[in-house]
Amino acid sequence: MNSFDTEGPTRGDGDTPRVFWSPDYVAPSHVFDTTRKSEAVRDLIVGRGIDPVSEPPATVMASTEKLIEELHDPIYIEALRTGDPMDLAASQGFRWDAGIWTMATSSTSGVVAALELAIKHGFATGSLSSGLHHARRDRGRGYCSINGLAVAAEAIRPRIGLDDRIAIFDVDAHCGGGTNELIDDWALDHVLHLDVSTNDFDRYQPCRPGNELHRATSTADYMATVERMLGLIIESGCRAVLYNAGMDALEMVPEQDLRRREELVSSKLRSADIPCTFVLAGGYVGPGLDADALADLHTATAEAFIG
Ligand SMILES: [Zn+2]
Repeated sequence: MNSFDTEGPTRGDGDTPRVFWSPDYVAPSHVFDTTRKSEAVRDLIVGRGIDPVSEPPATVMASTEKLIEELHDPIYIEALRTGDPMDLAASQGFRWDAGIWTMATSSTSGVVAALELAIKHGFATGSLSSGLHHARRDRGRGYCSINGLAVAAEAIRPRIGLDDRIAIFDVDAHCGGGTNELIDDWALDHVLHLDVSTNDFDRYQPCRPGNELHRATSTADYMATVERMLGLIIESGCRAVLYNAGMDALEMVPEQDLRRREELVSSKLRSADIPCTFVLAGGYVGPGLDADALADLHTATAEAFIG
């Protein structure tokens, strides 16, 4: 029995914000999709009346910052805070400034707050964070400083039953090698980690039986794997899902299929009464996709889960 069981699953009342975002999410001075796009997505979500969007509560911010410090190598945390040593502070791949720590703590707090809310009320929530699935315990990688998925999974552990599991469902183009490493480092044995990718970056061997990485070779393979993994998640009877809703699979999968993916994941989890927290993850401006189109594509995730 856990503290949420007595409340039972309910649907949203339409007034409670279910999506988290803060200006701190875009605090770094380095201009890049990962450090900027969330604001444009937030504007579309509010403008279209999908959700009022709120900042992570101060209490969650404080507890999450403390947890991040406890979980990571102190030398790495000091580097993110101060820029010293600089090579470690910039290990995620862009120039360090103080906004990186601000963004990392705030956007991770948003994931924690959204997951707590999803479990408490039994509905879908989101944070306009990126999942940052390449970040490690002692360094950043692939534009990721702090792994919000793994930290949120650890943060929620005392709030769920001893036998409850959380699924991390990662559909980003790249492989979640950071998440896999942290599942091992932090003994996140309550996490079912299912990962479908279209790109070999950060490929890994799953560290626990039952966890899976599949590198898709075609749109049909990708979509069929999403559906199969959804079946595994539902079968697992997990307490909640953290959904790393990358749109960078666009390198292989057409936009209409990515939009269909969001409808599929949302409707199947809703039918199974499994609360889900989405985060944005990868998605980049490039040929055929300008900043407005990218924000619109990410907003499809919020529309499917919250709208
Ligand atoms: Zn990616």
